[in-house]
Amino acid sequence: MYFLLAQPMKHMKGDDIHVFLRLVKKAIKEWPVPFVSYLAEQGSDPFKILIACILSLRTRDQTTADASKRLFAISSDPYSMSEMDLKKIEKAIFPVGFFRIKSKQIRAMSQKICKDFNGKTPDFIEGLLSLPGVGRKTANLVVTLAYEKPGICVDTHVHRICNRWGYVFTKVADLTEQALREKLPRRWWIPLNGLLVPFGQNVCTPLSPWCGACGLSELCPKIGVLSRR
Ligand code: SF4
Repeated sequence: MYFLLAQPMKHMKGDDIHVFLRLVKKAIKEWPVPFVSYLAEQGSDPFKILIACILSLRTRDQTTADASKRLFAISSDPYSMSEMDLKKIEKAIFPVGFFRIKSKQIRAMSQKICKDFNGKTPDFIEGLLSLPGVGRKTANLVVTLAYEKPGICVDTHVHRICNRWGYVFTKVADLTEQALREKLPRRWWIPLNGLLVPFGQNVCTPLSPWCGACGLSELCPKIGVLSRR
């Protein structure tokens, strides 16, 4: 067991972010790309990326991938999805987390995309936020991955790691996004989520991060880390 206050506190300087993120980029090469990023790399339709993002919330990556493939096999555009029977959507996406709620959201957002956006998935944050079930995290992910437009997708991993590094000092993800928009160099906005999600799942884990095996350990101030491996 290690105690934070027993260690000399290091502080991250602004330019250090380049070094930290380059090291993360190197570290994550051995892990599979998250399914939503994989879809984007394949040049998938933004609607599919949006739906996969919704399915991925509180769901393991392999489950998201399997459910997305089953759903896209029966419907992959907002017009046909708008008319799908809810039970069919539920059956296709089970066992993703909150599958009943997500089924309703998927159909409702498809209907809104058809009605208000002529069947085109919005490419801007406010448009995406107007869709049922879409929060800032999903909106930013769609804007960045599907359209390669500026945005910063802050999920629990991005929020936790940026605070452990002392790059931001924030209590909630929305404030982390605001802080990052002010200081993170633009070149890292789009890749940030794809770098920190696998890193957060495999190394800088929520409880007892693997600092002993982490290539950033010498540099990292480990703020708020009370126990580590
Ligand atoms: S040293 Fe520890 S706290 Fe810092 S990034 Fe690595 S795993 Fe996370």
